[in-house]
Amino acid sequence: TAVLLNQAPQTKLFNSKQPLQDKLVYTRSVKQVIKEKLEAMSTQKWELDQENAFFVGDLGEVYRQHLRWKSLLPRIEPFFAVKSNPDPMVVKLLASLGIGFDCASKSEIQQVLSVGVEPSRIIYANPCKQASFIRFAAQHNVARMTFDNAEELFKIKKLYPDAELILRILTDDSKSLCQLGLKFGAPLDTINNLLQTAKDLNLNVVGVSFHVGSGCLDENAFADAVVRARWAFDQGEALGFKFNILDIGGGFPSGNVTEGITFEKIAAIVGPAIDAMFPSNIRVIAEPGRYYVASAFTVCTHVIGRRTVTNEENETQYMYYVNDGMYGSFNCILFDHQQVQPKVLSRDGNLMFDEMKEDERTFTSSIWGPTCDSIDCLSKEAKLPALDNGDWIYWENMGAYTICAASKFNGFKQSEVIYTNTFE
Ligand code: PLP
Repeated sequence: TAVLLNQAPQTKLFNSKQPLQDKLVYTRSVKQVIKEKLEAMSTQKWELDQENAFFVGDLGEVYRQHLRWKSLLPRIEPFFAVKSNPDPMVVKLLASLGIGFDCASKSEIQQVLSVGVEPSRIIYANPCKQASFIRFAAQHNVARMTFDNAEELFKIKKLYPDAELILRILTDDSKSLCQLGLKFGAPLDTINNLLQTAKDLNLNVVGVSFHVGSGCLDENAFADAVVRARWAFDQGEALGFKFNILDIGGGFPSGNVTEGITFEKIAAIVGPAIDAMFPSNIRVIAEPGRYYVASAFTVCTHVIGRRTVTNEENETQYMYYVNDGMYGSFNCILFDHQQVQPKVLSRDGNLMFDEMKEDERTFTSSIWGPTCDSIDCLSKEAKLPALDNGDWIYWENMGAYTICAASKFNGFKQSEVIYTNTFE
């Protein structure tokens, strides 16, 4: 008999002082939770919305990433970049662990304050801010914020003259999937003038930040950026500022990456570089987003339609239509340059978890989202066994820059999240 999900026990996560009480958190493996969810669905066939796509979010994986950070970069305090996944349970968990938060807007600041995070644990890390958001930050004592241009300094002078300003410098982001330097970061040859302007305005600049780009593929970019930050520190000191904080931004790879650039490789370079160039009285923070959440979320999609086509060589191919897509959680393909990997979850009611039957034939298959737009393609040429309407496909590593940017285009709902904690 199927175990209904709502019979699962509630866990108290990691002896948190603030229990994560508003949602159920299971203590089973991600696969077990998915299995039970599908079983529950199959016993309630005629209920509305039964086939909806859903996420399983593993809070234990977020916690494991946290422990990994602590062990490999003990000097550097993580400020989770909320933009990567503002999931309420993730934010609560990280708040309960005592880490800081990088917020990009008023509503992110509000979300973080609402779970009891002190304003001193927030950095408002958006170099160009709406005036009313700066006023909001001032009202709530969120003093630490970034800038990279003189106009922002004049704005802050008017709205929050006591703010603790962090100069965001430009670094080499040519090896990153998302190059943020196109939009933000003061080039080194502007830094002197900028700091002089801040000084003339009697503003309180307390440090330097950078972001090597999201999805950074070269650990040396971090070392190079640390050298530039040291140079910017020296400029500040020469002008009489007493900088006390270095913010090394985000760009750290997700938890599932085991070759190519890894968190271990970055830590091995960046930790010693900072120790060599910044004395221990300088506080060092970072703004990891993807690192914490990418590997913690799996999305399960239902095959809602299938078309059989024949190519020029007379081979059978399939087009599958699933119920979350490019306008939903898979916006990451477009906005975040992610490559997503379809895996067969269930066929004909049988759970597969990507296992194939022996000698089974595969077909070139394309997978499409549910909207009426042809850009809504998730995978152009996957090799999959023959699936049919009603089967399920799952996609791992879907926790970063997915749900948060999903739209409801064509009237489709955002996929709901079920939580589990696999940390033992
Ligand atoms: N900090 C800032 C200012 C950002 O703009 C971003 C991402 O765009 C991040 C941190 C998080 O980056 P990542 O998810 O690559 O760690």
